[in-house]
Amino acid sequence: SLAALLTVSLTACGQEARGGSRYKPAGGKGGTIGLAMPTKASERWIADGENMAEQFRKAGYDADLQYGDDKVENQIAQIENMITKGRKLLVVAAIDGSALTEVLQRAEDAGIPVISYDRLIMGTEHVDYYASFDNERVGELQAKYIVDALRLGPATARGKSYNIELFAGSPDDNNTKYFWNGAMKVLQPYLASGRLVVRSKQTRMNQATTLRWDGGTAQKRMDDLISRNYGEVRVDAVLSPYDGISIGVISALKSAGYGTKSRPLPVVTGQDAELASVKSIIRGEQTQTVFKDTRKLAAQAVRMGDAVLNGKKPEVNNTTDYDNGKKVVPSFLLDPVSIDKSNTGLLVDEGYFTAGQLK
Ligand code: BGC
Repeated sequence: SLAALLTVSLTACGQEARGGSRYKPAGGKGGTIGLAMPTKASERWIADGENMAEQFRKAGYDADLQYGDDKVENQIAQIENMITKGRKLLVVAAIDGSALTEVLQRAEDAGIPVISYDRLIMGTEHVDYYASFDNERVGELQAKYIVDALRLGPATARGKSYNIELFAGSPDDNNTKYFWNGAMKVLQPYLASGRLVVRSKQTRMNQATTLRWDGGTAQKRMDDLISRNYGEVRVDAVLSPYDGISIGVISALKSAGYGTKSRPLPVVTGQDAELASVKSIIRGEQTQTVFKDTRKLAAQAVRMGDAVLNGKKPEVNNTTDYDNGKKVVPSFLLDPVSIDKSNTGLLVDEGYFTAGQLK
């Protein structure tokens, strides 16, 4: 088909622009892959790193797995060290997506290919492929959940108005704007019609961001939003982009007296299906999360890496949406899944958690 031809030739152009065969076909298997992950403060990244290390080992490589403790300078030092040690391939989930230009120039000079993992690395040509989830879809799922849970119906339908507050992720993470835009595409018509009201008036992304996705930072902001804008008036929903932020938001709400029969918690979304949040959903506190199977993402990155190292073209399914300012990075995007009380069993069926863990 024409679409398929276009995809193939676009991908081919991308290769050409990078100098085609600049990576000596790495001679197949063997050698060590550098895995630079952002933090151990969130379960998902621990799982991502361990899954990749295991799967790269199964594919015939060694793995050098490093965590940057959410400090940009740590991550840069770790990547420099990987380059010095002659790692064959780098897989990077950036802490600050725009801070790696220099160090990735050094990777380029050393002929080391780079895969951007989950978060797009910005402002450099020296990123070969991107493996992630459909990030805009994540935001859409969160926002649609809120609209459905409040039974709003169409944006223009008459009915009661509900109060919502909005949280965004870390401003230095490229995913943040995709989550936000996906959510706002759904919420905007309801804000326009007045069915949803943001009493704080903090409706711009840069008013709602949470540096490094920190739960404590979100808790403070939520404390503040409640005390300034809600007295007798209720918060009905909170758009939260990540489970760690949801936990902070829920703590603030509980301190303000939410979570009782007469003042139930609002609808609170989340992301990552982290164990504490899935348990919170089962208890009836957090309302929703978005499940992104880190085993599948790891497998995707391993397939991409293995292909690149063996002179093959990795499979991609998106060659248009992820422009990092220097190039459109060929991407493979996986599908996220919305989880609430009604389908936490899916996480057990899929083997993500054991039934015992969710008790
Ligand atoms: C990831 C999310 C995660 C967030 C915080 C984002 O880049 O895509 O899955 O919740 O970082 O770690």
